[in-house]
Amino acid sequence: MRKKIIAANWKMYKNPRESLSFLDTFLPLVAGHERDEILIFPTATSLSTVIDRVEGTNVHAGAQTMHWLNEGPFTGQTSPTMLTSIGTTHVLLGHSERRLYANESYEHVNLKLKAAIAHDLIPILCLGEMLADRQTGYTKDTLLAQMGAALANLPTEKAQTLVIAYEPVWAIGTGSTATPDVADQAHAIIRGDLKNRFGPVVADAARILYGGSVKPDNVSALLAMPNIDGALIGGASLDPHSLALMVQYA
Ligand code: PGA
Repeated sequence: MRKKIIAANWKMYKNPRESLSFLDTFLPLVAGHERDEILIFPTATSLSTVIDRVEGTNVHAGAQTMHWLNEGPFTGQTSPTMLTSIGTTHVLLGHSERRLYANESYEHVNLKLKAAIAHDLIPILCLGEMLADRQTGYTKDTLLAQMGAALANLPTEKAQTLVIAYEPVWAIGTGSTATPDVADQAHAIIRGDLKNRFGPVVADAARILYGGSVKPDNVSALLAMPNIDGALIGGASLDPHSLALMVQYA
């Protein structure tokens, strides 16, 4: 059985004070919950505050992006060693908002993914098709191309901790959640590709999360599907009661 992951992507919301106020409510609601992994991805300026606050609890915190180099003249960037120096355990890579607004390509994501693994950060590789891809029948081709670019030259032994988030761009922040069947079909394509690339052991162990308008009222049906191993949640993760409800989906 793959342990499910409930992950909150806070995007550009919540300063340190607001993050602490969220955790004051949220942590008692999920205390002792060990069935799933609970992850929070705060904005960069709140990350260290959140990491310190969740220490010793069943919640972990990660970064929303990072550079692949350890230091250099890259204004505005954060490196893998800077993240690990404050106790970061996970990092989101390739989120569609980074691809859209920050020109992040899957070639960059490939460099970041390898750097994350080299520094013992668990990468959550985000991918997913645009509405036009789906409408023209190119969902599978798009997902395979994204996987191919992001995972190029990754040796099998480095793929053991890989987590993937399938996030169809048309479902992010729109309220149009993929149906459980549609999402599960995409997850099956992704798992099949992992199997071709890295073999059945890695493919069976990899957690594939669904993201895109996940809410308390649709999370159970999504997580009941055989290939869906968790959720990456944006808007509905900003309220502590809403996120706690999704942790207790079953
Ligand atoms: P959403 O965002 O839940 O607000 O659709 C998900 C994401 O972008 O990770």
